[in-house]
Amino acid sequence: MLVPFFDLSRQLVSLREDVLAELAKVWDSGVFALGPAVGQFEREFAECLGLKHAVACASGSDALLLALMALNIGPGDEVVVPSFTFFATASAVSRLGATPVFADIDPATYNLDPKDVASRITERTRAIIAVHLFGQCAPMDRLMATVQSRQIAVIEDAAQAIGAQWVGRPAGGMGLVGCFSFYPTKNLGGAGDGGMLSTACDTLAAKFRLLRVHGMHPRYYHRMIGINSRLDAFQAAVLRVKLRHLPQWEKQRAENARRYFDLFREFQLDHILGLPYVDPAAKHVWNQFVIRVPEGNRDLLRTHLTEAQIGTEIYYPLGLHEQECFAHLGYAPEDLPETYRATREVLALPIFPELTYEEQRLLVGQIARFYHGRAAVPVQHTRKAAA
Ligand SMILES: *Cc1c(COP(=O)(O)O)cnc(C)c1O
Repeated sequence: MLVPFFDLSRQLVSLREDVLAELAKVWDSGVFALGPAVGQFEREFAECLGLKHAVACASGSDALLLALMALNIGPGDEVVVPSFTFFATASAVSRLGATPVFADIDPATYNLDPKDVASRITERTRAIIAVHLFGQCAPMDRLMATVQSRQIAVIEDAAQAIGAQWVGRPAGGMGLVGCFSFYPTKNLGGAGDGGMLSTACDTLAAKFRLLRVHGMHPRYYHRMIGINSRLDAFQAAVLRVKLRHLPQWEKQRAENARRYFDLFREFQLDHILGLPYVDPAAKHVWNQFVIRVPEGNRDLLRTHLTEAQIGTEIYYPLGLHEQECFAHLGYAPEDLPETYRATREVLALPIFPELTYEEQRLLVGQIARFYHGRAAVPVQHTRKAAA
């Protein structure tokens, strides 16, 4: 690939010494599952992000599952979730025997549309999961107002939004619970899987700590039925080193986004393609830079870029309401029209911190070539349609 979609190797070398030193400490300690390294990471994570309690677990998917378990969500309950998200947001609901209720998105931000959420709330609704997609917070004030005084919990899926803010408040620190992922492609990625729960509620934090170790306290006395979802100490050691670099990587991602906006303007593509919309209330952390390619051209453009050795991704090619495993829920594709349209139009471009200006210029230049060289899609016509 001339321009890789994601290239971790560019930061591995510079972190090697620091990471290996921390890994050696864990090795020497002989404590590998939870333990002091995990406790330290939890404290540093909470402090760094302005969260009261942080409880580590084995993955972002488990964080969502544990959040719902702690709220006793189960059969007969409904949880409103976006359909335009990663699978784990909804599978956690189904795994507990509850029903995911899919809501549509705001086409500008790809985040939950509070009006559509409101229309899907019933007397069975126990929670909503607000996903902060691509690094920008969902409109938390409006979502919280929607459920206010109805005994409905708001869970934040902040897997893609570590460090993001909404009106100055941190992702994961606005709802009742926040869920984070340290999967390697996230803004803070471990050397494997990891996750974190956040909450301001002391009781819930204590419950998360129990549920992640089979509800066990003291040893071999089980107060509730939990799961095994311990973070390992090696992951905590890696993540502690990487957490210190997060502000710098955040800056680099924001700079890359700014350069894309400039380049798309320079190549006169900003009226043809839908560029990301940043809400004035949001601090965006750019886990993904996602453009909208109208008029059925998305897959053609992607093929063109692949042939030019430029990596792209599609988040997500199918709404969850269209997935085979959720067919029993009975949604038709057009039931969520904005989700349906987004899945056919979105294209994610590389935005990892170490991406260079030259690579971005090459990429945007190739997109310009695609449009200016294609007689079938006159630029004038496309402009009118987009306006
Ligand atoms: C990555 C992701 C998850 C799951 O996190 P894992 O650590 O991979 O289990 C959940 N929700 C969203 C929106 C994600 O992007």
